[in-house]
Amino acid sequence: MIADCHMHTEFSADSEAKLTDQVEAAIKKGISHICITDHMDMDFPKGEFLLDTDRYVESIQKVQEEYKDRIHICLGVEVGLQEHLQERLQNYIDSYPFDFVIGSMHLVHGEDPYDRKIFDRMSDEEAYRDYFTATYDALLKAPKIHTLGHLDYVVRYGKEMDKYYSYKKYSDEIDQILKLIIEKGIALEVNTAGYKTLPFTNPHPDVIRRYRELGGEMVTVGADGHSPEAVGYHFEEIPELLKSCGFRYFTVFEAKKPKFIEL
Ligand SMILES: [Zn+2]
Ligand SMILES: [Zn+2]
Repeated sequence: MIADCHMHTEFSADSEAKLTDQVEAAIKKGISHICITDHMDMDFPKGEFLLDTDRYVESIQKVQEEYKDRIHICLGVEVGLQEHLQERLQNYIDSYPFDFVIGSMHLVHGEDPYDRKIFDRMSDEEAYRDYFTATYDALLKAPKIHTLGHLDYVVRYGKEMDKYYSYKKYSDEIDQILKLIIEKGIALEVNTAGYKTLPFTNPHPDVIRRYRELGGEMVTVGADGHSPEAVGYHFEEIPELLKSCGFRYFTVFEAKKPKFIEL
C-alpha cells in the first residue's frame, strides 16, 4: 500500500481532525506508513497561520509510541514557501526533529487562490502563470525542503479550473520548476486531493511524466486529508498512475532521508 505522507490534524487552523482519528483511519484503510504534516504558514495574508510546534511534536511522539506495533508514523510539517521567509523557515526546520518537510506555495500576489478573490481581478491564465512563477522564485530561495507540495494547486480554484489548463500550455514555467527541484534534490509530491474537484492529481500526470523525463526520481504521495474520510483518498489508482509515468518506486522520508518503496 502507498504511504500517505501529507495529512492534517486539529493542530492546523483548517482542520478539526483528531490526531488519533487520522491514525485510525489510515490503519482501517490498510496503510502502514503515514506522515503527519500540519501547516506552518508564516506571514500569511490574514495574519500568521502558525503551528504550536512544541505541543505538536510532543503529541505526535506520544502517538508514535502508542501505535508503534500497528503503523509507522512520521513527524512532518507543510511549510508555506515565500521568498522572504527562507532564513526564518530554515531556522524553524532546524529546531525540530522533523522526518519530512513539504514546501508548498499557497499564494499568488499575497492571496490564497483557495479564497478565489484573486480570480475577480485576474484571468485563470494570468493567475496560473503567476502562481508558477512565484513557485519558482520561492524555490530559488527555499529552505531545505524534501518535496514540493501540490504543484498545480492553483488550478483547483480557477473560474474554469482545468478547462483550458494543460502541461503543454505552461510548459516553460513548469519545466523551470521541475529542473530546479531535480537540481536541488527535492522530490515531487503527487497530491490526491486534486481528485476532489478535478479529474486528476496535483500535479497533472503529464507534469509527473515530464519530471521523470527530465531525470526526476523521487515522488512522494499524499492525500492532504483534513478529515479521516480523506486519508488515503484515491490511493488505489496511484500505483498504476505512477507506473504509467515511468516510476517503479515511490519515496518516503524518514529522519530527512529518502527511502524508495517498490510500487
Ligand atoms: Zn498545501
Ligand atoms: Zn496540506
